[in-house]
Amino acid sequence: PIQVYNNVNEGAYYFAEGKGPLSNKKIRAREVHNDVRGYMAELLSKGIDQSKLDTALTKEDAQTVLEYLAAEGGLDIDKLYKASARRGYSESPGAGNQSGKVGDANKLVDMIQSGLLDPDFYNVAEYTYELQMTMFQAVGGMDRIATALQKRVAPSLKLGAEVTNITNLPEGVKVTYKDATGEHQLQGDLCICTLPLPVLSNINHNFSGDVSRAIDYIGYIQTGKIGLQFKRRFWEEDDHIYGGITHTNNDLTQIFYPSYDYLGKKGILIGYYNFNEKAVRTGNLGYDDREKLALQKGRLIHPQYDTEFERSFSVSWHKTKYSLGGWAVYNNETRKTQYPALLKPDG
Ligand SMILES: Cc1cc2nc3c(=O)[nH]c(=O)nc-3n(C[C@H](O)[C@H](O)[C@H](O)COP(=O)(O)OP(=O)(O)OC[C@H]3O[C@@H](n4cnc5c(N)ncnc54)[C@H](O)[C@@H]3O)c2cc1C
Repeated sequence: PIQVYNNVNEGAYYFAEGKGPLSNKKIRAREVHNDVRGYMAELLSKGIDQSKLDTALTKEDAQTVLEYLAAEGGLDIDKLYKASARRGYSESPGAGNQSGKVGDANKLVDMIQSGLLDPDFYNVAEYTYELQMTMFQAVGGMDRIATALQKRVAPSLKLGAEVTNITNLPEGVKVTYKDATGEHQLQGDLCICTLPLPVLSNINHNFSGDVSRAIDYIGYIQTGKIGLQFKRRFWEEDDHIYGGITHTNNDLTQIFYPSYDYLGKKGILIGYYNFNEKAVRTGNLGYDDREKLALQKGRLIHPQYDTEFERSFSVSWHKTKYSLGGWAVYNNETRKTQYPALLKPDG
């Protein structure tokens, strides 16, 4: 079975370490998103109003765009952004006369100086085609898919077998592997090889030059995560965060909130999910130090870490022997120059 994977939540936080007026404090994503959207819409409206943009718009079209910008940015009648309920309340609305008090907008210059417009906080993940809502995940974790497939092919599987050589022969192919009982060889007509390329790169093989080059050339991303188990789901009970992602500009990069077991007794957060040099730095730490880092940086956002933490589990994929990276990173060039060699049969 599958369940909705909630990767977008305006109630999650942005946390920018630094020296700006909004640094080192958690700010709801909805405040930053709506303030920035408002100011951008205001800036564009001014540009169009003053005919300073060479937009080749007719007067009527320009009017339509201005109205669109006012709606999109939540601008007031003077086409100025002065905060709106979209960014949330400093006093929540309630019954009767309590209409609520809309929070003041953060100043654009404060957001810029605090790094909230820096790449760490770009909204691209939500815009990316593959990540747009609605997303699903396998109940119990994505490896349930592999486990379900495994059940169907169990009799023909050899687990605990490490492939060390793949040799194309004039007729067929020979695979050498070792397991607990020693070294073995298998011969077949074909070998469908799905080993991660950085692993395959270190295996003895006699593949042709272009295949071998592609295997060695394609990089895999450096990435790491830590799971933090807590006694209490304080992010739900105290912060009203149900799923979604908090973004930071420190080594955590992100904190993921679970999209399952809402309001249950315990819960697991992904305490960091980082990439590239941040993943290398955290991956180079021992398990205890990774945990220490996740707790030390995480408690700046959720001080409840101090009382609710139970235990952690971390993985650094580029350091995991049978992965050596998170996933293949292709660009337009390597898709043209290297990838085709990996799609055709060799030998
Ligand atoms: C943290 C993280 C987040 C991700 N998020 C997403 C996402 O949101 N969306 C998405 O589409 N993808 C995501 N991916 C990528 C996706 O998980 C991988 O691209 C996908 O699992 C690759 O599948 P695969 O079968 O090619 O390789 P793998 O799943 O890596 O399988 C390779 C298998 O080969 C085995 N093996 C390795 N070496 C040997 C050997 N010498 N002998 C025998 N067996 C060996 C391994 O043990 C493994 O079982 C993510 C990956 C990571 C690490």
